[in-house]
Amino acid sequence: MTSVIETQSLAKSFGGMTAVDNTSFEIESATIVGLIGPNGSGKTTTLNLLNGAISPDSGSIRVQGTELAGKSSTSFVRAGVTRTFQNPRVFTTITAIENLLVPVLHSKGRGSKWTEKAEELLSFVGLLGHRDTPASELSGGQQKLLEFVRALMTDPHIVLMDEPFAGVHPSVKEVMRERIIEKNKQGTAFLIVSHEIPDLTRLCSDIICMSDGEVIASGTPADVTSHPRVIEAYLGH
Ligand code: ADP
Repeated sequence: MTSVIETQSLAKSFGGMTAVDNTSFEIESATIVGLIGPNGSGKTTTLNLLNGAISPDSGSIRVQGTELAGKSSTSFVRAGVTRTFQNPRVFTTITAIENLLVPVLHSKGRGSKWTEKAEELLSFVGLLGHRDTPASELSGGQQKLLEFVRALMTDPHIVLMDEPFAGVHPSVKEVMRERIIEKNKQGTAFLIVSHEIPDLTRLCSDIICMSDGEVIASGTPADVTSHPRVIEAYLGH
């Protein structure tokens, strides 16, 4: 299998505080990988590094074999990496469909083609009825679904998701879960940060666990959740 993202000795500090400490890991193409760890272990910083929101102090980030460490978020999007956030960052003053068109504003091609694609994606998560609703009028869960499909507009190789299941209604959680699985079957990889370990173990083929900025275990959900260092890291916090 080929990897979609491969990091080597990735490091990032804020002042004297080491948030990510020489981490190396690989995410295979078309897999669903969970990223877990206690609060403050470096998960969000890792996502921020992997989409170019922040630059590493040192280390390598290869996306489909191309070195992108230090490059802009736009470069990461072009290489096929998109992102969702714990608190969805939708554009509240514009409509649902307009939100989906933002990532392709500068793309070549006919506008009607993009509109058709945006409508398909809205329908994919049950939001087509809200096509022309301002995003501010959608529920928190609907905004999460909207942000999820906005991340799919550019046909990414991998979507980085921060807490997609947190604080959403169980029915929305189920739609999110099923649609992640469906897109994955079509070849999209996912790296998902979540505190909801049972949800992750059902969904992921592999899990990476961080503690104090380091990867302390990776492998199958069963192996990682029973790993002594993982149990210790959670009990210690
Ligand atoms: P997690 O997502 O696992 O909770 P984070 O990546 O958010 O962990 O944080 C890892 C560490 O880095 C924490 O100690 C946090 O306080 C620190 N940190 C993260 N972002 C910043 C920042 N912008 N400035 C200073 N410290 C930060």
